[in-house]
Amino acid sequence: MKEWLRSLPAIHELQNHESFTQLLQKTELDYTQLTKQLKEVLDQARESILKQQWNGSVPGTHQFIDDLFRTLENKVQNQYSFTLEKIINATGTILHTNLGRARLSENAIAHVVETARNYSNLEYNIKEGERGSRHSHVEALIRDITGAEAAMVVNNNASAVYLVLRALAKDKEVIVSRGQLVEIGGSFRISSIMEESGAILKEIGTTNKTHLYDYEKALSPTTAIIMKVHTSNFKVMGFTKTVETDELVKLTNEQEGVIFYEDLGSGALYDFRKHGIGEEPVVREVIDMGTDVVTFSGDKLLGGPQAGIIAGKKAIIDQLKKHQLARVVRVDKMTLAALEGTLMDYARGDSAMRNIPTIRDLLVSIQQLDERAQLFVTKLLQKSSHFQATIIQDSSQVGGGTMPDVFLPSTVIALKHYTLTAEQVSRKLRTETKPAIVTRIQKDELLLDLRTVSLEEEEDILLEALIKIQG
Ligand SMILES: *Cc1c(COP(=O)(O)O)cnc(C)c1O
Repeated sequence: MKEWLRSLPAIHELQNHESFTQLLQKTELDYTQLTKQLKEVLDQARESILKQQWNGSVPGTHQFIDDLFRTLENKVQNQYSFTLEKIINATGTILHTNLGRARLSENAIAHVVETARNYSNLEYNIKEGERGSRHSHVEALIRDITGAEAAMVVNNNASAVYLVLRALAKDKEVIVSRGQLVEIGGSFRISSIMEESGAILKEIGTTNKTHLYDYEKALSPTTAIIMKVHTSNFKVMGFTKTVETDELVKLTNEQEGVIFYEDLGSGALYDFRKHGIGEEPVVREVIDMGTDVVTFSGDKLLGGPQAGIIAGKKAIIDQLKKHQLARVVRVDKMTLAALEGTLMDYARGDSAMRNIPTIRDLLVSIQQLDERAQLFVTKLLQKSSHFQATIIQDSSQVGGGTMPDVFLPSTVIALKHYTLTAEQVSRKLRTETKPAIVTRIQKDELLLDLRTVSLEEEEDILLEALIKIQG
């Protein structure tokens, strides 16, 4: 043991080693940082030797030095790698809240990069050479696309809801149907956000039925808002009655000083109904009916960045823009760039819209998925004899609390490994592959849904990862 300890190299010797110089270049680490990491690796080796737990190569040999630097490189790589990392989503769930919801369009990505790299006219009017408004960049696009008189953007839809209630209904009553008092993602409840905002919740009707007369009866001089909440993450079946937007607009118009507000949740700008997918109204329709103000998410069906979009009558939006809270929930320039890029795709029309990954993935045809799945299985079985693979008809979900009752028909690859369980294979794909691959398990079969896997690069990575899994 003493022999080994004595043979441990000195730090300055290692610093002069060519591997050290190479690592300095490769990792772009500062000299003292790398030295610090190196010292830790060496100390660890010394400690293991002292505890008689060393099972590496023999100190004093070339092998020992090589191994030391390899350990150092791994350590540095772990230490300086991001914790927010890319993953491959093979679950088929398009807006997976845990996996970052929407992927951005190339147009949006390029605009974010450009905006991040440079100064911009975020709050600067180039023509006049004076201060401008950050709302201006997306407002015209939102007006164009939705037909609203005015619009603004905040951090997410939760803060949009909060801002609307706080600014327009503090200490006043907001009428909401009991069937629409939704909870989204565990922590966001309409009733709690209402309480936080200082608005007074006036619940009406029952879980399954609310009638127009329930609204009429609830109106009082303290009513500020009639609110409709899109029940985006559940569906009540059977004996139900909700009052439609047009009826509520009519009722509100008859009341002096009462606002009709609809929280759309997802807020589709693309009409998925024309492809037979779901019943989500497009925002323009809701605005056209005369709704005073609507709010919706940027990263659900819209397919953009996390953001909350507020659109509606100019007088209302102006009031919201001026409110102190607007500053608290304001979006940064990267979000605005991503949103402007995405909205520009919408403005350009159908073919550009289909480049938005969320829309593309939702509309991909079953034939396309089928062909991809067949080809994938053929390639896999050529290169690996460890799997039994079948192609089954299943369904993908939209996710993100959106279109809960829509199951998109999907062709899915079902894998059974001959010696490993589905759970074991799924763990390997998650933890032993970079980027990590997330899959679904159903009845001890591993399901791969290629709908959310990019054709170009991700499919190949997925294939390689599976081939590597032996036994
Ligand atoms: C998702 C959702 C929200 C919250 O939106 P975020 O953008 O996630 O903050 C609010 N209201 C409804 C109805 C929703 O579906």
